[in-house]
Parts: sequence; C-alpha cells; structure tokens
Amino acid sequence: MMAQYLELKASYREALLFYRMGDFYEMFFEDAVAAAEALDIALTKRGKHDGADIPMCGVPVHAAEGYLLTLIRKGFRVAVCEQMESPAEAKKRGYKAVVKRDVVRLVTPGTLTEEALLEARRHNYLAAFVEVRDASALAWVDISTGAFHVMPLPTVRLAPELARLAPSELIVSEAKERELFDIVSDFGLALTGLARSAFDSSAAEKRICDIYKVGTLEAFGSFTRAEVSAMGALIDYLEITQKGRLPLLKPPQREAEARNVQIDAATRRNLELTHGLNGGRAGSLLSVMDRTVTAAGARLLERRISSPSRVIETIQSRLQAVAHAIENQRRTETIRDLLRNVPDLDRALSRLSLDRGGPRDLAALRDGLIQAEHISVTLDNPEMPSLLREARAGLAVHQSLIDLLDQALVAEPPLMLRDGGFIAPGYDAELDEARQLRDEGRGVIARMQQDFVSDTGISSLKIKHNNVLGYFIEVTATHGDKMLSPPLSERFIHRQTTANQLRFTTVELSEMETRILNAGNLALEIEKRLYENLKTTILESAAEIGVTSAGMAEIDLAAALAHLAKEQNWVMPKVDTSRAFKIVGGRHPVVEAALTQNSGTPFIANDCDLSASEDAASVWLLTGPNMAGKSTFLRQNALIALMAQIGSFVPAESAHIGAVSQLFSRVGASDDLARGRSTFMVEMVETAAILNQADDRALIILDEIGRGTATYDGLSIAWATLEHLHDVNRARALFATHYHEMTALAGKLPGVENATVAVKEWEGDVVFLHEVRKGAADRSYGVQVAQLAGLPAPVIARARIVLEALEQGEREGGATQKTLIDDLPLFSAAPPPMPTAPAKPSAAETLLEKIIPDELTPREALEMLYKLKEAA
Ligand code: ADP
Repeated sequence: MMAQYLELKASYREALLFYRMGDFYEMFFEDAVAAAEALDIALTKRGKHDGADIPMCGVPVHAAEGYLLTLIRKGFRVAVCEQMESPAEAKKRGYKAVVKRDVVRLVTPGTLTEEALLEARRHNYLAAFVEVRDASALAWVDISTGAFHVMPLPTVRLAPELARLAPSELIVSEAKERELFDIVSDFGLALTGLARSAFDSSAAEKRICDIYKVGTLEAFGSFTRAEVSAMGALIDYLEITQKGRLPLLKPPQREAEARNVQIDAATRRNLELTHGLNGGRAGSLLSVMDRTVTAAGARLLERRISSPSRVIETIQSRLQAVAHAIENQRRTETIRDLLRNVPDLDRALSRLSLDRGGPRDLAALRDGLIQAEHISVTLDNPEMPSLLREARAGLAVHQSLIDLLDQALVAEPPLMLRDGGFIAPGYDAELDEARQLRDEGRGVIARMQQDFVSDTGISSLKIKHNNVLGYFIEVTATHGDKMLSPPLSERFIHRQTTANQLRFTTVELSEMETRILNAGNLALEIEKRLYENLKTTILESAAEIGVTSAGMAEIDLAAALAHLAKEQNWVMPKVDTSRAFKIVGGRHPVVEAALTQNSGTPFIANDCDLSASEDAASVWLLTGPNMAGKSTFLRQNALIALMAQIGSFVPAESAHIGAVSQLFSRVGASDDLARGRSTFMVEMVETAAILNQADDRALIILDEIGRGTATYDGLSIAWATLEHLHDVNRARALFATHYHEMTALAGKLPGVENATVAVKEWEGDVVFLHEVRKGAADRSYGVQVAQLAGLPAPVIARARIVLEALEQGEREGGATQKTLIDDLPLFSAAPPPMPTAPAKPSAAETLLEKIIPDELTPREALEMLYKLKEAA
C-alpha cells in the first residue's frame, strides 16, 4: 500500500494527497504534518518507512468538505485519491492485492464547484495571463457557472484588471512566475506556474475548436495569438485538475477594455466598491446596493459594480429598464417574489456536467425553469424597454424539458443519488415493478411476524432489521429455552444471543429477504440509469438554460435596482457625452446607511458642479477641518458617477453626468498605514500614475495628497499636482487639502474654484455642519478637533498658546516669528518660506535647459560650467 501511495504522491508533489482508506482520507509523511497543523487535528503514526515512523493523519470522508475548505483557504491544493474498486474486488485478484486507487480531482482555489466551498453571491474566477512576444492577454473562467472571457491586456494593466475581477487563482508560464509575483502578491490569489507547453497557441486553437465542435475559432470573433494561448492554458489546467472531465464552458466572450470605466486597484480599494476595508462585503458599495433575490442576480451586480460601462447606449438601456420597473412597481414586486424561488441554475448545471451533481440539481433545474415560465407570463408587456424584452425572450423555451422533469421527479428529492427515491412513481414501469416487489416483500414480512407469533405462542416475538444481520426474529431471553428446543428449534435457526435477547432466522425469512434486497438493488440501478438519462437531456440544452439564467439575472438586477431606488428615494441620472458633472443634493450611500442605522442622524446632502467646458478643466479645491466631511464628499461624487454608469439610479435630487472614462482616487498616506510599505512612496507612485494617465474625460478625487512628508514638501507637491491636473490633464477633479495656502490657486487658474465644508464655532468648540459651500475655510480648527477627540486639557491649553504664537509670528513677519518660536522649546527651527507659483526661468536655467550632456566633450563641459557660473 505504501508503494502505491508513494507512486501516486510522486505525481502530485505540490498538493496534499487525500488518500482514501475506507471511510477516511488519510495523509502521510510531510503532508500529514502540514495538514495536522493547518486543520488542528491529531498527528499519529502508522508503520515504518526506511526504519522511521510514518506520520499520519486523517479526516472522515463525510466531513471532508469542511476540511477541504480550510486547506484551500490556507493556500493548499488537494489531490483527492479515491478507491477505484471495492476491497472484495481486490481480493478476487489475490489475497494480498491492494485496492486500486487513483486521483480523481485536484482541488485548487480557482476550480471549486461545491456549494459549501463557494460563496453563492460571488464569482469564483480562475484566470490565465500570457505574454507572447509583444502581445499579452488575460483569460478568465468561472467553472461553477461556465462564464468564459478573454481580453488583450498589456502587462502594465494586469494589476487593475486583477483588482476588477478578483480571481482566486492565476495561471502563468513557469518562466514568468517570479517576475509576476510582485504584481500579483497584493491580490491574495494563488499563483500557479504551468509548463511552456500549456501555452502553445496552435494546440490551444485546436482544443478550443474541439470543445465547442466548431471548425474555426472565428465562430466566436477574432482573437490574438496571446488570447488563444491564454484560453488554451485555462483549458489545459482544467483538464489537469478535473482529470479530463471538462466543465461546461460558455463560448468565450471577448471583452474590450475601452467599453468599461478604467479603475485602478488603489481606487477600487479606496472607494470600497465590492469589498469593504476589512476585505469582506460589509461596508462596501455592493453591500448597500444589493437588493437582488437570486444568487445569479447578485453575481451580475458584482460584475456591474466592478466594470461600470462607458457606452452611453448601454447605460441608457439599463437605466430605462430600472425606470420601467419603478413605473410598474406592483408587477416588479410580483416578479421579485417569483425570483425568490429560483435556484442557482448555473451552478446546478456545472455540478451536473462535472458529475458532482445529485437529484437535487435536477430538481433545481425543474423548479428554476418553471419559475422562468411564470416570470415570462408576468412580464408580458409590449411597452417594455429593449433590455427587458431581450431578457424575457429566453425565458419560456423549455416546455418539453419541464414536462419531462416534472413527470420524472418527486417533489422534494433526497440529496444523495445513491439513496434512490427521487424518481416519481408512474414514470418508468420497470422501476415501479421493482419497487412494488420490494414493498410487497416488506408487507409479507409484517404478516410473517403474525404467523410466527401464533405458531410459537410468544406474543412478544418481533421481526427486526439491522445492517449486520438483515431481517431477524427476536425474542426475550425468558423464551430462550422454548425456542432452542424441539420442535421450534427445527424451524428457527439461532443467529445471535445478546444480553436480554435471542435472535433467529428461518428459511422463509431469508428467502424473502433476498427477494427484497434484489428488488431494492434493481430499483436503485434503474434510478441511476434514469438519472443519467435526465442529466444528458438537460446538458443537451445547457446553452439555452444558460440564456434563461442570464435573462433572469438581468431581470432580477433591474427589479432590485428599482426596488432600491424607490426605497432610498434615488433619482434617474442624466448620462451623456458632454463633460458635465452637476449633482444637486448628493449623498454618500454607504455613510448615509451607516448613519441611519447607528445614530439616526440625517445625512446632509451636498451639491457639486464640476461641469467642464470643451477646452477647460474644472477642479474644486476643498478645504475644511478634519472630520468636517471632506473625504465623504469626495467619495460620494465619485460613487454617484459610477452608480450612474452601472445603470443605477443615484442618491441625489438630480444628477447630470458626462460619461466618465477613467476614475482615479488617491488618499493621503496616513490613511493607508495598514499596507505596511513606505507609504509616502506608494502615494507618490499612485499620484504619478494619475498624472501620467488621466485624460480629459477622467474624474479624479485626491484626498490630502502630500500629507506623508514635511509640511512644505507636501504643500509644494500638492500645489504642482493640482496645476498639472488643471493645465495638462484637463480633468474634472475634486481636491481636498488642509493646506490653506493652496486656496490662492483659485485666483490664478480659471478652472479652479474653492469650496469648504462649513463648521460653526460655539463657546470654543467646533460644531460640524457637513455643508459644502463655495469659498475657502478660514482656519483648520485642529486644536478644537483634538479637544473633541479627548486630548488631555493641559495639552490642549499648551497647543492653543503655541498656535497663537505661530499665528502672531506669521502676521508680524518671519523675524518676530523666529524669536517667538525660539521661546518655545518645542521647535528649534523656523519653517522655510512659502512656495509661490513657479517664476519665470532664470538665465542659468534657460542655459541648463539647452544642454545635452551626452553630446558634450569634457572641454565643452568645463566651458559651459564657466558660462553657467556667470549667468547665475
Ligand atoms: P474629513 O475627510 O473632513 O476628515 P470625513 O469625510 O471622514 O471627514 O467625515 C467624518 C465623519 O463625519 C463621517 O464619518 C460621517 O460620520 C460624518 N459626515 C461626513 N459627511 C457628512 C454629511 N454630509 N452628513 C452627515 N454626516 C457626515
């Protein structure tokens, strides 16, 4: 057995081998040590190998899913090795023959299908990234639903796409594993290296054509070599992990980056689109927007929030669907009630295709398709917008399949195929007959008991059943002598004596038992055959069922967004190709929800107008004390733009948004400490990315950038950044800062306006009004905020004195400030002078500008130095 184990293990070095032994999966050697620790289970030993004890641990098969989940979450892969024959069959081959075993599946984070291992309302993507010469591509698949996508993708855009899709596993070429590790290490995904051969694009093309039974890939559109290679690698990996059994895959869909709003990883994190700061759903935009009632609808919403559209027609048609659902509110609620009973068709189909399904999956399809018919009838309205009409078109097309399943299945089938009992009576004559025989046998046995009682005169005699003896006759020990002596002993064969009972059988009883058993086994076999037939019939319609399911998800989402808009009093945004950005009475959906839930305080709505003209930028520079609501205001405007482009109504009185192409958000370093890097560096890298990439349709929110360094450094950087956004990027932007000096920019740059979040001062305290107004804040109120936060009174008093000294110094000019500050032991140096807007370049600078060092001889260089010295 150990030899067999070691041979199997040699093919799965990177995985834990779950080696099936009876009712347990056992692990040995290092696997056992690692698993015992990860699962917190006992480590034992069994036998010796090369003279040393073999460490071992095991988990019961019936509870294996839970352990699998823990191991996968902890980053392990698991190869599941099953017994391929029964011990009895092995014995036939020889007394010492070892039961045949083989790995039936490799479980990895990206290839899960079990309900218990998946989150119903989230996708689970497996992705592959490929670089072929000068091109590269990303393909991704959710094997639990069959969704299959691909797009060309330059390596520099890999991180943002990973942030959007959040795959749980990424496949790359072994050679690239190292190089890509840095990019992907942030995303908490498993990185899997495959050999070069898995990425061969010609082989891939052939394999894809085979799977979909098409002659050429062009049937699905035109793909680059890199795209074909990425799709091929995915399929190759699925074949390895599923041991040749491929899941149902929908035809690959090519996604174009240009159709979606570009959002980078930092922005997604910062705006908490699909994940809150703690990594879960809580606190995210998704969590407050989700009113869907089906799992597929919830997954569709997550996809939409991750990829808002920038195609006006798409956005409009989604908005119209929501508006229609609001207008027909009663019907919408009826449809939502129907949808609540729709099971997860995609995942049921996927399990059936991988042979991991059961009778309940058949029933799920029956129930889902029946509901689809009802929804189709309810949704019958000629006035409907196109999106709903198209979604409805795929709903009621399964009449014959429904009839079949309806006749074949009982109302509520059992979970396990092996238990039988899921095929309805009347569906199959042969099955009915076998069942009748089995049940009659049971009736006969009940009658036998009466006969035995009268024949023996023992009224307490019973016929019972257990798994060891099968059917047996039981009497209490007091009747033992009678039963064991003639004449009864001639007929009743003694089987067992327990503490208080004696157990017997008779020839008639054993014969009856055999008949019942045979009939029962026959019935089970027939049921299994019927199951296979039903499964095949369903899988033949897999593509159409996929369309039905997608249609219901679309209807669910439109109805959910309508329900939400009504409940929260949101309005339909106007989205067009202009560069408008005018929001009246906007609110932050997540902060508002938290406020109403926790304290019942109302959220203060605020306006924002960043409408830019054809050639000018529009930037609001927002000042105001900490805690006033600056960050909230910034984020709420970005979120409203995104929600509009998802096709949702928005939390405002009115909103007019010229479609946004890219969304950038950057927060000051100190908000980002948890990420444990040189935070100022990270902030600058991300700011650089914005300045280099943003186009004139971008929306940018910058929250206190430059905070992670010395005051004057920070101010200078913030200043120059804002100028660049205004002059070069010409974007629509909101810029929050606590550097009041920057408000001077509004006078210098035509597209910059000052705004402030108002506070009231009352008896030395600040009162936050959370109202955004035009104009600059007068002061920071930092000391008052510190007091609110509970800093000890002496510290506050001291801070007031220092502040006053500094302010007085500023009023009276640098010299006095220096003396005053010298009097304060807190500081040793005065701050350097304020930066001003860049002056005209000096003569020396103009000269320097012209020099190309590479083209100078040493002599010329020396002469240039003299010239420079002179000019300076
Ligand atoms: P800042 O960025 O100015 O330091 P925040 O935006 O973080 O301030 O807001 C601080 C707190 O004030 C928030 O957590 C929220 O509870 C509250 N707040 C912000 N904006 C509003 C608003 N418009 N209405 C009501 N409460 C708000």
